[in-house]
Amino acid sequence: FDDLGADGRPARLGIMGGTFDPIHIGHLACAEQAREAFELAAVVFIPAGNPVFKKDRAVTPAADRLEMCRLATRSNPAFDVSAIEIERGGDTYTVDTLRQLRAHYPDNVELRFITGADAVASIVAWRESAAIADLARLIAVTRPGYALSDERRALIEGRGNFAVDYLEITSLAVSSSDLRRRVAAGASIRYLTMQRVFDYIREKRLYRDDGEGGPR
Ligand code: ATP
Ligand code: MG
Repeated sequence: FDDLGADGRPARLGIMGGTFDPIHIGHLACAEQAREAFELAAVVFIPAGNPVFKKDRAVTPAADRLEMCRLATRSNPAFDVSAIEIERGGDTYTVDTLRQLRAHYPDNVELRFITGADAVASIVAWRESAAIADLARLIAVTRPGYALSDERRALIEGRGNFAVDYLEITSLAVSSSDLRRRVAAGASIRYLTMQRVFDYIREKRLYRDDGEGGPR
């Protein structure tokens, strides 16, 4: 979306960060409903290079996660995928990404960082969370199992003066962890992600434990 804001008219760009290991219908519906609710010109999916919060497990190679994002979003002209976090290397910090995007786009482009109710709660732990607040408004979407209680909202808003919009979206209790577990156990993940992603996972034999399991 290099021409975003180039004609001088204000535009809003949604940013959907995540590990996307793998991308699933929860991510896609979340981005689509945020796009619609906040009249975002586009949503960019940005797979994390080396997620700081996921050091407890081996993350699938960035090239695979990136490719699955591309496959999943290809049919939506308002969706795009960026490799900026992957190309930057090192640990992934959202603030660096937002700074890069801010420098790339003209001032009339507003950045909106989309995040699920679970991830928004960890913002307080992010490096330079106050700087993030200056660079983008947040869109906090509902996610089954993670209540956005009044106390949690107060906590989020109290630290770093975040401007947050809350959005109730269709409840999809889908997670990448569940998809990985299912594949490892030989259970089906069909319809939990896009068909092209499903095919990719099968072809590349991703998430298999012992070579015997895999999506059916
Ligand atoms: P994992 O189980 O590995 O943590 P995940 O499903 O949580 O994977 P992430 O890549 O961690 O996926 O999440 C990226 C972003 O998408 C986060 O902001 C997260 O809150 C949001 N998200 C993921 N799944 C859903 C869902 N089902 N509903 C709403 N938001 C979601
Ligand atoms: Mg997660």
